[in-house]
Amino acid sequence: MLNNPRSHGLWEKTAPAAPMAGPLDGDVTADVIIVGGGYTGLSSALHLAEAGTRVVLLEAQEFGFGGAGRNVGLINGGMWVMPDDIPGVLGPVHGERTLELLGGAPLAVRTLVAKHEIACEIETNGTLHLAVGADGLTELEARAKQWQARGAPVRLLSAEETASRVGSHAYAGALFDPRAGTLQPLAYARGLARTAIRAGARLHTGSAVIATEKSGDSWIVRTSTGSVTAQWIIVATDAYSTGPWEQVRTEQLHLPYFNFATVPLGDNLRQSVLPNCEGCWDTKEILSSFRMDKAGRLVFGSVGALRNTGAGIHRNWARRSLKKLFPQLGDIAFEAEWYGKIGMTADAVPRFHKFDRNVVGFSGYNGRGIAPGTVFGQTLARHILGEISEDALPLPITAPKDQKFRTARELYYEMGAQAAHFAGNRF
Ligand SMILES: Cc1cc2nc3c(=O)[nH]c(=O)nc-3n(C[C@H](O)[C@H](O)[C@H](O)COP(=O)(O)OP(=O)(O)OC[C@H]3O[C@@H](n4cnc5c(N)ncnc54)[C@H](O)[C@@H]3O)c2cc1C
Repeated sequence: MLNNPRSHGLWEKTAPAAPMAGPLDGDVTADVIIVGGGYTGLSSALHLAEAGTRVVLLEAQEFGFGGAGRNVGLINGGMWVMPDDIPGVLGPVHGERTLELLGGAPLAVRTLVAKHEIACEIETNGTLHLAVGADGLTELEARAKQWQARGAPVRLLSAEETASRVGSHAYAGALFDPRAGTLQPLAYARGLARTAIRAGARLHTGSAVIATEKSGDSWIVRTSTGSVTAQWIIVATDAYSTGPWEQVRTEQLHLPYFNFATVPLGDNLRQSVLPNCEGCWDTKEILSSFRMDKAGRLVFGSVGALRNTGAGIHRNWARRSLKKLFPQLGDIAFEAEWYGKIGMTADAVPRFHKFDRNVVGFSGYNGRGIAPGTVFGQTLARHILGEISEDALPLPITAPKDQKFRTARELYYEMGAQAAHFAGNRF
């Protein structure tokens, strides 16, 4: 994308082609304008179009240009915040609603992918949250109890079972979540776009929204090549937000996260490394993640940006760490490398913003946007269709609030990750 191999990496190499779409041309009218072609915007577009609504989606670059085309591909249930802490952050009513919605979100993704036959390498064998040391295990025991009290089918695995599923003895145990899984993230975004177009939505790429204004009861949004007039605007621009809703981005702290993809593993190695293809991440503060793609490439990532000195430091760290975690891989070569910006909110929970009358959006998924973006996008569609009132939405309305010292703190995280990986902090 944009001829930058470090933006979307492996996903760009292996995703099916994007559906045909081009810039908005001229002045058009619709019922709903959607700004942003990631999971949130595309899921809204699909669900609104299926209900017969006239939808125009405007994407500044290409479908999946933002987080949707760069992420690890872990389809998670829930957030980083411990389940019991979410009602404390969001209030008891919204907290329980959000937990219920997000707990069921991976199933919503599976159902959508199956219904529309979206080719996105979906794996439904669950995820493993891996315990590093005794502290990691204590955290996962608490997480397991809290989810189980809510009826979630999660299970704590012993160190031995973890080792046999992962193919490494590095972990003290794992929390297995059978609701979750993995997919090819850019393929999922492009598949949603194709499905939304088939359902009747009008999708435009290369169409950055640069201005918006009121016109009586309607809204007009403008790009450099045209305008759309409609009753509603959905703002689905999240961490890559530009233009009139830049605050969606400035209320988040951007955490850089990179991935390296190995060449495909041979049959013998595939039997020992993640033979069931669960998606994995660990309990460390500077966490690592890994997963298989369909062809047997191991995708290994952690916090950091692959630019300037970071590229070499993180690449060397990834080589050392993989060797330590999976000695059986030997000196395996990397086939792709890329990184992106994870948008973190101040309290690590997502946001629902009502920017003005009939201008709404969800954002701020804190590195957990595949399943949440899908169900929050659908929720926006149902809200506009009158099926869910404002009072019944999963999140309370909040006003965007810029994070203090954002730029300095982002630099601190980028440099801190480099320092930790340079100092030899392994896997
Ligand atoms: C490196 C990385 C790893 C991650 N790992 C995971 C993971 O394993 N699992 C998981 O669930 N989540 C993960 N995430 C988070 C996930 O990718 C995001 O939460 C998700 O993509 C958010 O979806 P979205 O549709 O809201 O926003 P995005 O996917 O970011 O899409 C927003 C779109 O809006 C467009 N846009 C912005 N401004 C304008 C404008 N003015 N006009 C028109 N269009 C505009 C952008 O170009 C962009 O395409 C990760 C993110 C990153 C970066």
